[in-house]
Amino acid sequence: MKATKTQKQNMKALYEKNRKERLEYMAKKRLDNLELFIKRNREQYAKHREKYVTQKKDYYRKNKLLIREKEKIEIKKYPQKFSARWKACKSIVIPKDKLCEICNNKPAIQREHRDYSKPLEVQFVCASCNKRLGVGINVNE
Ligand SMILES: [Zn+2]
Repeated sequence: MKATKTQKQNMKALYEKNRKERLEYMAKKRLDNLELFIKRNREQYAKHREKYVTQKKDYYRKNKLLIREKEKIEIKKYPQKFSARWKACKSIVIPKDKLCEICNNKPAIQREHRDYSKPLEVQFVCASCNKRLGVGINVNE
C-alpha cells in the first residue's frame, strides 16, 4: 500500500516531534555504556579500517573547497579559539615521550585548551582524551 501525501506529512511531523527525545535517549544510553560503546566502535573500525580510510580520503578530495569554506566560517565564528590554537601551536612544543596528562597512559600528541583567553595555558593530552573533553565529559571523575 502506498502512503498518501497527508499520511506522509503526518509521519514526518511525528518523526520530527520524536527526534529530540530520541536523540537525548541515545546520548544518555551512549554515556551509560561508554566503555562498551567505545569498544564496539574500535572493533568495527579495526574490521573495516581500509574502507574507512579510503572513504575519508575520497570525501576530502571531492569536497576540498567546501571543507575549506566551512573552516573559514568556523574561524570567523570562533576567532579566539583558532588564534589560541595557532599561538599554542607556534610556541609550545609537546615534550618528547610525554604521556597524556589525563589518562597517563597514551603518548600526548595534542594541546588542549580549557580557556581560550589564555592561549599559552595548555594541557598535553592524547587524542581520545581531547575528544572526550571536547564533548563535555569530565574524564577526571
Ligand atoms: Zn589520554
